[in-house]
Amino acid sequence: MDFGEDTLKVGGLTLTGVSRGGIATSLHVPELGLLFDVGVPVVGQLKRSRILVTHGHQDHLGALPYLLSQRHLARQQPADVHVPAEIVDPLTRIFDAWAEIEDFRMQMHLHGTKPGDVVKVRNGLEAVALRSVHRVPSLAWVIRRSTRRLKEEFADRPGEELHTLRGEGVEVTEPHVEPVLCVTGDTQIELFDREPLVRQSRVLVHEVTSWDDRRDVEDTRAWGHTHVEEILERLERFEGEALVLVHRSARHSRAQAERVVAQRFPAAVRDKVHVFGN
Ligand SMILES: [Zn+2]
Repeated sequence: MDFGEDTLKVGGLTLTGVSRGGIATSLHVPELGLLFDVGVPVVGQLKRSRILVTHGHQDHLGALPYLLSQRHLARQQPADVHVPAEIVDPLTRIFDAWAEIEDFRMQMHLHGTKPGDVVKVRNGLEAVALRSVHRVPSLAWVIRRSTRRLKEEFADRPGEELHTLRGEGVEVTEPHVEPVLCVTGDTQIELFDREPLVRQSRVLVHEVTSWDDRRDVEDTRAWGHTHVEEILERLERFEGEALVLVHRSARHSRAQAERVVAQRFPAAVRDKVHVFGN
């Protein structure tokens, strides 16, 4: 079965993987060394030892046992798997059952995560968990990068002078933290409304499950999802570089979604908007 793997380069990141509503979601971002959700195996996933899970629906997590057993066969270290705290117990029971079936226990570091928790990814890179709004306990993930940048008062100084100042012990840089990526997982639009970090992320991977009236805003919300009309109303509040719309339901073709973007999204923001998932 072809799950519609796709690749997109935006905002200095490569997004590669699958994201189709109710079918499968697995997103791999090599620059950050992260995998978001494990609905289906995707290219490159075995290289990643940290997996950030948005929620426990099978189309987002069903391939985890298979991924872990593949890692074991490839003699890799146990992966760090960060999931909503509420699903640690049932997941542990599932892995107990697999251990019984296979007479072998797959190794992983399972981390229960609560909204507000911060996970260190590597030096200068951390993942913040936010509560998203879905029918089961769910998290959105924001990846923050910390760097140092030149203080504004030194912005026009020539390099030589900065060098001298540094030599004199003057601190010419200051810490700078940028949310480089947000992956919403499945959510209603309240996450976007409530969380400034989501709106500020350089690349925002937001779910848009419904793209026409076959399931209207009310129905879409009842299933814990976002309708394209709700994104359209809020476009001006997005402060980042790229808005990547994922998790399109099987009712809508890619061509239909791209037509909606071309015809309905204002020209001023259209270039920022990308439809993801084949
Ligand atoms: Zn879901």
